[in-house]
Amino acid sequence: MPGIYLHIPFCRKACTYCDFHFSTSQKQREAMLGAMHRELSQRATEVQGSVDTIYFGGGTPSLLAPAEISAFLEQCRSLFHVAANAEVTLESNPDDISPERLAAWKELGITRLSLGTQSFREERLQWMGRAHNAEQALRSIDLIAKAGFTSWTIDLIYGLPEMSLAEWDEQLTIALDNGMPHLSAYCLTVEPRTALAHQVVKRMVNMPGDDAQSAQFDRLMERMEAAGLVHYEISNFGLPGHFSRHNTSYWQGVPYLGIGPSAHSFNGSERRWNLAHNARYIASISADQPYWEHEKLTPAQRTNELLLTGLRTIAGVRIDQLELDALTQNRKAAEQHMQRGHLLVTDGRLVLSKAGRHFADHIAADLFVTDDRRDQP
Ligand code: SF4
Repeated sequence: MPGIYLHIPFCRKACTYCDFHFSTSQKQREAMLGAMHRELSQRATEVQGSVDTIYFGGGTPSLLAPAEISAFLEQCRSLFHVAANAEVTLESNPDDISPERLAAWKELGITRLSLGTQSFREERLQWMGRAHNAEQALRSIDLIAKAGFTSWTIDLIYGLPEMSLAEWDEQLTIALDNGMPHLSAYCLTVEPRTALAHQVVKRMVNMPGDDAQSAQFDRLMERMEAAGLVHYEISNFGLPGHFSRHNTSYWQGVPYLGIGPSAHSFNGSERRWNLAHNARYIASISADQPYWEHEKLTPAQRTNELLLTGLRTIAGVRIDQLELDALTQNRKAAEQHMQRGHLLVTDGRLVLSKAGRHFADHIAADLFVTDDRRDQP
């Protein structure tokens, strides 16, 4: 059990595209943090072995005061053996970055910052409904470097309406010129029940076509490769030594414990997910009522999860790790993807070619297996 994930379900503003679990009201902040501490204590016995990574995600964990972050870290250190070189990540928004906060986070043992930059353009940030502005986006990077953080990453979004290749190039240039050692780049997707989905339905926003988004993904890969950042997961690029250890474990199917509303956990055979509702999560924990659902994964589900997450990574999927024979069950589809040069078998692993990375989820879905169908000759 190397990873602990803490979901802090509060944000200053609701970004138009976001479907994560969060509330813009912090009225229940104290009760929420208390409930999360209680969950952590109650589930301590689920953690086997030393903890290698702790990840504060959300929501916006940088809204927490340093003392609140410290309380979680202290609790983790008292309940578990936290490795001396553990990676401790804090997702932070640029408007929460100040020299004082950075110094406090460093003192607490935060080793990695994940910055929700999204864009360096003012009009884009406003369109997304972000709480920060373009000046804060740039300044936060400068302050992080000055505070002595060597491991940090920024999030950027491409595939925006009417985004040109020149605009995307400009965004990447700004990030690289500022010494970015790691980038998470996400293509804008329209998630149901978001403000963006409403705007698209009302024709207030025209989403770009697949060709434009695909061209931006190609440009992203070219620029990162030229800058020496390794494309180690479909949306993630890092200089050697700067890959996210927490997320890499997750993509490799290593167990982790998720604390807080909506947080997911995985123990190697069972998946569990907490209520995605702040008030109900708090009330259930206080009343000692269940606040989660869970399911034991079947061999097909375990195989399909490995395919879905593993094919997105540079390491691919070890064929002998798959419990069911995905290549035999889906011989025709596998051969087609191989003939197109999108899917490769290398050293006993299934990996995607550069061209295949455009279709990672589609290829994984084509290889999905079912439990009730025995391997066919
Ligand atoms: S700050 Fe992050 S979690 Fe909060 S609404 Fe925006 S994208 Fe979603």
